[in-house]
Amino acid sequence: MCAACAPARDADKLLRRLDFAPYGSAVTRLLLRSCIPLLLFAALPAGAAGNAPSSPFAASTLRTEDARVAAVAYRLALAGETLCPEPSPLTGMLFHHLAEYLPADRLLMIERYGLDRGPGVLTVLAGSPAEQAGLVAGDVLLKVNGRPLPTGASIAADPERKSWRRRIEATEAQLEAELRKGAADIVALREGRELRLTLGSRPGCPARVRLARSPLPQAKDGSAPPTDRLERLRLARDKDVNAFVTDGRVTITTAMLDFIENDDELALILAHEMGHLILKHPPMHEGDKLLASIGIRSGTFWKREEAADRLGIRLLAAAGYDVEAVIPFWRRFLRAYDTPQIFRYHPSLGARERIAREEIQAIRAARPSL
Ligand SMILES: [Zn+2]
Repeated sequence: MCAACAPARDADKLLRRLDFAPYGSAVTRLLLRSCIPLLLFAALPAGAAGNAPSSPFAASTLRTEDARVAAVAYRLALAGETLCPEPSPLTGMLFHHLAEYLPADRLLMIERYGLDRGPGVLTVLAGSPAEQAGLVAGDVLLKVNGRPLPTGASIAADPERKSWRRRIEATEAQLEAELRKGAADIVALREGRELRLTLGSRPGCPARVRLARSPLPQAKDGSAPPTDRLERLRLARDKDVNAFVTDGRVTITTAMLDFIENDDELALILAHEMGHLILKHPPMHEGDKLLASIGIRSGTFWKREEAADRLGIRLLAAAGYDVEAVIPFWRRFLRAYDTPQIFRYHPSLGARERIAREEIQAIRAARPSL
C-alpha cells in the first residue's frame, strides 16, 4: 500500500538517506521499498519544462544557500584542524558537475557553464585560497599540475549513477592529492578563454559539503513555484529534514535549512556529520538500519552517534559557534521528528542532552573563558 508514500522525484535518494533523520525508520523504508516501482514510474522528471533562469551568470552560480553552507563548513574545518588526525587541503570552493543535472538540462549547462569540459566552480568563499588564486564562480577547471581533469562530458556519459558519482569524487580527490604536495598550477576556463592560476590550500578537517534541494512548495493554485529551474533540477536532492554522509561528503537538505533557526544550528549539524567523516564511520546500509531498528547491533550505531555528537561539539567550540545552541536544537528536532523507541537507531533526546551537557562541561573546564 502506497498511501504513506511521499511524492518523491528520486526514489534512489529516498533509500539513501543515511544518518540524521531518526524518523527514517525501518517501517518507513519497507513502505518505500514496496512503492519503488510506482515511484520510478511516477517520478520521471519534468524534463525541459519550466522558465528559463533570469539571474545573471555569476549570481546563478553563486547561490546564497550553497554559499552559506560552504562558509559554515569551511569555518568549522579550519578551526578543527587540531581535532583531525589527517588534515585535508581546503580551498574554500564548491564544485558542480554536468552529471549532477538531469539529461534534459545538460545541454543548457554546457552552453551556460561549460560543464562538459571539467568540474565547474559553484562557490568561492571570501578570503579563501581559491579567491586568493583569482578563481571565481563560473570558472571550469581543466588541468591541475599539467594533468587534465576528467571532462564533465565523459563522466556524464556514464549511465550508472554510482559509477559517475565515484568518478566525480575521484576528480575532486585528484585536485586534493595535488594540493597536498603544495600550491598547484591550474588551467581554468572562463568565458571561453583558458587562464593559468596558482592555487594554494589551508589545512583543516575534511569538509566537502553538498546541498540537496528539497522540493519547493507549490502555489495554492497548483502552479510551479517561481524559481530558477536549475535549482529545481539539480540532481542532489532529498525531500526530508535531513543531513547525512555519503562518499566522504556531507549532504544537508534545503528542508533542514528551513528548519534551523540560525548559523549556530547549521554549524552543529555540519559538525556532527563532519565528526562521522573524521572518525571514518562506515555509512549505514539499509540492512544495517533494518537490523538496528529491531535492536540488532543498535549499540554499535548508538556509539557512533555519540562519538559524532561529542566531536561535533568540540568542533563547534573550536570554531567559536555557540555550544548552547545544541540542546535546544535537539529538543526541537527530536520532538518534531523522533520515532518510537522500538524503531529508533539513534540516541534518545535524553541521551543526546546528557552527551551535550557532559561535553560542554568538559570544554568549559579546559577553557573557562568559553
Ligand atoms: Zn550521525
